Amino acid sequence: MAQPKIILFYCFTPIKDPEAFRLWQTALGEQFNLKGRIIISEHGINGTLGGEMDDLKRYIRKTKEFKPFKKIDFKWSSGAGNDFPRLSVKVKPELVAFGLDQELKIDKHGVVGGGKHLAPEEVNKLVKKRGDEVVFFDGRNSYEAKIGRFKNAVIPNVETTKDFVAELDSGKYDHLKEKAIVTYCTGGIRCEILSAAMKNRGFKEVYQIAGGIVRYGETFPDDGYWEGSLYTFDGRMTMDFSKNAKVLGECEKCGNKTKQFYNCEVQSCHSLILLCEKCFSNSNNLSCTHEKNKQLDSEMVG
Ligand SMILES: [Zn+2]
Ligand SMILES: [Zn+2]
Repeated sequence: MAQPKIILFYCFTPIKDPEAFRLWQTALGEQFNLKGRIIISEHGINGTLGGEMDDLKRYIRKTKEFKPFKKIDFKWSSGAGNDFPRLSVKVKPELVAFGLDQELKIDKHGVVGGGKHLAPEEVNKLVKKRGDEVVFFDGRNSYEAKIGRFKNAVIPNVETTKDFVAELDSGKYDHLKEKAIVTYCTGGIRCEILSAAMKNRGFKEVYQIAGGIVRYGETFPDDGYWEGSLYTFDGRMTMDFSKNAKVLGECEKCGNKTKQFYNCEVQSCHSLILLCEKCFSNSNNLSCTHEKNKQLDSEMVG
């Protein structure tokens, strides 16, 4: 029986010849009929792939033949079977475009100087013990947080990941430097980099959620500190961890509750628009009214 699945994964490890890895990963993806995106850099690999469960398992087995990839934590979720248009494997200067390729240091253990990884249970323990001293810090683009976020989280004013450095350097968050910061993002990769960047900028106690929101939501679907839906960078656009997920998003036209994003219908506009079903059914509502139309991080994966 067909069982479409999606895997998210990343690994920070020095890669001397990214181009050779690109060829290898392209061949594996084609061999197992996978679609999705893989980014390779001198810092490691970052991927989201969709395919049949058995094919994905075979892909994972082959990928783990490269020793440093043995430790990769592959995160599974259900797919629809048409979540990605094609397979894309690219070499880039950074796994996630923070603009920190010169600052970021990688060794065989991963990112040097990043925040301490906390399992979902440890996150809850920390909050129970330290209360208000703990601050959740969203490591994603601000639009992603519109439909789901951790309780009382700080949502930086970030349209794309490139904005984080300026945001941190602005001084806006200096009052949090003595707090216990817990960064979070979809699958954890953005926090690997963000948490190191925060520590480099004087944040004293920085944690990151191991496996990101995906892993936390599997452990505490809607009875922990996470609220709402998770934005995803694939055809699904949004996923819930249980039927009890709160709807936090608001329709940009009428203000009604919704969690559904749509692509702005203006070809040159790369903005996403949050609409309720009723407003979506009216063809006058399908273009956004956003001022800036920056290129979104369409290739971001975790
Ligand atoms: Zn509406
Ligand atoms: Zn638009």
